[in-house]
Amino acid sequence: MSVRTRFAPSPTGYLHVGGARTALFNWLFARKQHGSFILRVEDTDAARNTDEARQAIFDGLSWLGLDWDEGPEKGGKFGPYYQSRRAEIYDTYFEKLLASDRLYKDGDAYRFRFDRTPVTMRDLVCGEVTIDYRDASNTPDMVIRRSDGSYVFHFVNVVDDLEMKITHVIRGEDHLMNTPKHLQLIAALGAASPQYAHIPLILNPDGSKMSKRDAGAAIGDYPRQGFLSAAVVNFIALLGWSSKSDDEIFTLTQLVDRFSLAAINRAPARFDLEKCKWVNQQHLAKIDTETFAELAKPFVENENLPVTENYLAVITAVKDKVRLLTEVPHAIDFLVTDTASQDSEAVEKAKANPNSALLPTLADQLANLNEWSAENAKQAIGEVVTANGAKAGQLMFPVRVALSGRAHGPDLGDIFEILGKEKTVKRLRSF
Ligand code: GLU
Repeated sequence: MSVRTRFAPSPTGYLHVGGARTALFNWLFARKQHGSFILRVEDTDAARNTDEARQAIFDGLSWLGLDWDEGPEKGGKFGPYYQSRRAEIYDTYFEKLLASDRLYKDGDAYRFRFDRTPVTMRDLVCGEVTIDYRDASNTPDMVIRRSDGSYVFHFVNVVDDLEMKITHVIRGEDHLMNTPKHLQLIAALGAASPQYAHIPLILNPDGSKMSKRDAGAAIGDYPRQGFLSAAVVNFIALLGWSSKSDDEIFTLTQLVDRFSLAAINRAPARFDLEKCKWVNQQHLAKIDTETFAELAKPFVENENLPVTENYLAVITAVKDKVRLLTEVPHAIDFLVTDTASQDSEAVEKAKANPNSALLPTLADQLANLNEWSAENAKQAIGEVVTANGAKAGQLMFPVRVALSGRAHGPDLGDIFEILGKEKTVKRLRSF
């Protein structure tokens, strides 16, 4: 039987990290098993659903590269893929339960009569979990149709998983204790249950439960914060899954290759935005300079910096230094304008350095160079320090600060090449 997984979001808010991870694990498992990944919108709560939320979920999945084989905008033979349009299907299942005497009226609502026996589920991540239904006071029969005629989550969720022939339900651990209820319903309907894999909670670095308001929670924020989708997918995959090796940096294709449900951890995952930035840097370092330059362009323009003629050389100089595309403008500003902000602490420190007194001499030496190159400029530094009994290393810092206004940045040779002779000499003189 071919594997069928699904992501079943309720469109009540934007796509958050937890939801994206659930979608990703379902998608990875389906792709790995050459099965199908289904998107089902659980929009029965009309009062809380919004079109914006639905669109944000679709956009988020698309940005991450998680395409669905069946679902909204795609169709499929088990549709419609919106729960709000499946009332007739739910009615049929309701009738079935009614006919098998598993329902009884409670006012205008209907309750499902639990089988009064222990129910054990074998979760692919959490192992065996048993709920004992013998004590009805702990496990009262559950309402499945409210007095207003609407069906509860448990019922429609189960019906859809059966109808859509879902083989593996991969979802957050917050649903673990719902599952025995679902198994009761499935047994009452005389159906075979899918397999379940409940994936661990996501906690903040301080151990608190991650909330939708925490920084980094909304997938929609990542693109404009300068993250690459490949990096975000990679980072999210590491929330509760590991490759069982030291490798942590993977493309989506490599993730498909390595993914298994067996490698999902039971322990809660830690969400650390700093780690995500590190993962982003690893991905940025791997892309070629032309692509990097194109991706960085909107961020550069957004800060009103010019995309100069030597833009590619400028990008080459900083490519390995940034963690986020949003850091590119600040990393290159002193290379493409003369009005970049300076780090006053670095400037003070450089001015206090006695070797700064040699900067005008160095400027003269550089001004006299016939041929401008990083190598010749560095040689000039060597000559100046030797003539003045200083050390090359000690002059580098004031030179760097005079040219860039910062303590750190690209290789000094790259700065010489990019600024050229005239600007270099001018900045050294005016420091
Ligand atoms: N709509 C439910 C949720 O967003 C789906 C739960 C499930 O995956 O079964 O939590």
